[in-house]
Amino acid sequence: MQQLENNYINGEWVPSSGTGTLEVVDSSTEEVIATVPASTAADVDAAVAAARAAFETWSSTPIDIRAKYLRDIGAALAGRYDELVDTISSEVGSPKAFAQMVQAGLSLGEWETFASLIETYEWEERVGNSLVVREPIGVVGAITPWNYPLYLIICKVVPALAAGCTVVLKPSEITPLNAYVLAEVLHEVGLPKGVFNMVVGTGPEVGAAISSHPDVDMVSFTGSGRSGTAVSEAAAATHKRVGLELGGKSANIVLDDADPATVAFGAVFGCFINSGQTCSALTRLLVPESRAQEYVDAVVTQASQVRLVDPKADEPDLFNSLGPLSSKAHQERVRSYIQQGIDEGATVALGGPEQPEEFATGFYVKPTVFTDVTPEMTIAQEEIFGPVLSIITYTDEDDAVRIANGTIYGLSGGVQSADNDRALAVARRMRTGQVDVNGAPFNTTAPFGGYKQSGNTRERGRWGLEEFLETKSIQLPV
Ligand code: NAD
Repeated sequence: MQQLENNYINGEWVPSSGTGTLEVVDSSTEEVIATVPASTAADVDAAVAAARAAFETWSSTPIDIRAKYLRDIGAALAGRYDELVDTISSEVGSPKAFAQMVQAGLSLGEWETFASLIETYEWEERVGNSLVVREPIGVVGAITPWNYPLYLIICKVVPALAAGCTVVLKPSEITPLNAYVLAEVLHEVGLPKGVFNMVVGTGPEVGAAISSHPDVDMVSFTGSGRSGTAVSEAAAATHKRVGLELGGKSANIVLDDADPATVAFGAVFGCFINSGQTCSALTRLLVPESRAQEYVDAVVTQASQVRLVDPKADEPDLFNSLGPLSSKAHQERVRSYIQQGIDEGATVALGGPEQPEEFATGFYVKPTVFTDVTPEMTIAQEEIFGPVLSIITYTDEDDAVRIANGTIYGLSGGVQSADNDRALAVARRMRTGQVDVNGAPFNTTAPFGGYKQSGNTRERGRWGLEEFLETKSIQLPV
């Protein structure tokens, strides 16, 4: 078992000033695989001071040198690929093929993306007699969740560094080990001291200290709405910028001309991806009343092929293999949502709340499909964050759009139709930050973020860079 006692502050590995530790648990064996420090507000003070001191030099470091650092880090991180895959497989429970392609794979591409972006970005423009310049916002606090732990860190740290900001990262205390690997890489590459700092600990202690800190200029947060509210409240007194990436309850609208078998594949994968622990998962499948049974049959047949697997096994089927959930507490939460669905009158077409027979150990939840779900049921309104699909019927397109938009969330969505233009017209009516038409692939350079209570920011691509920029107008004599 690893016993990690340090934070990474001002270019050095520094023991936490606190005495507490937190356990990191393997999701499939339920064994403690590491302990990490339960750091304190004093550790955050030290990290913020280091980031503040480094800001002036880093923010004025020429673009080509910043870009070179990003490329060097990307290359060095790629050298730790196998270790990252194994670490994330244990911490999160992602099956190896998924950890390779998605968890670690996505995390490697962003370094080159942002290196190229800052080399071509228009940092200033003339508007009448003004020179409008874009500048880094300052010290960024990054607070991240456990479901795609490394990729979601990278979606903040890479654009922040690219913009010229310095960073204090608090990774999820449930999955902090991959962040240690990242910090080691940043250290080895020789990023100037203080530019990147990491403090490991709980949200109410370390996350709150970052959010309220007067010398942090911006907090970039990804996680639950509840924690997002706490971050916003803590940040309010200093009026810092707060970027929130929160939860979702996304609808996948099946129009009545869509082919059931094609719909079924995307509907199941789009909901169960990463065992349903995906903020943009398409967890509500909206099917036309007139053809409901055909779509239900196809989806249940497809979902029946999904198997629970040991994440460490060499299981090549990325699409039909699910690992355990990330923690015991989360497993219990998801199972209680399934029970609530039953109690409120939905029908279990597949799965259920019991521990799966094939795995007595591990935080597994059976892939579950509910039918007879009505839009106001708890399982149709609240984010479950597990492999649970709710199928809801609608009468016509207006009804489908009304149901799709009828939650507090607005993160993602899907539309399925034999006619792309028809699907696009419906996609335009969805109040969400992204919509996939006919299973179109995820685009890592397009903006990602939520409407309504799914958040207030955009990550990735140019939009992700701009979240970390201030805008200054310099009026020039005419
Ligand atoms: P969480 O809110 O429990 O934790 C997220 C982070 O916030 C962790 O680092 C945690 O320690 C910290 N935190 C907790 N309380 C805090 C506080 N009072 N002050 C400051 N920080 C605090 O979320 P989670 O369970 O780790 O992640 C799951 C949630 O994240 C889901 O709701 C999911 O939809 C959301 N999510 C959103 C996106 C997105 O891009 N929109 C992506 C992934 C996950």
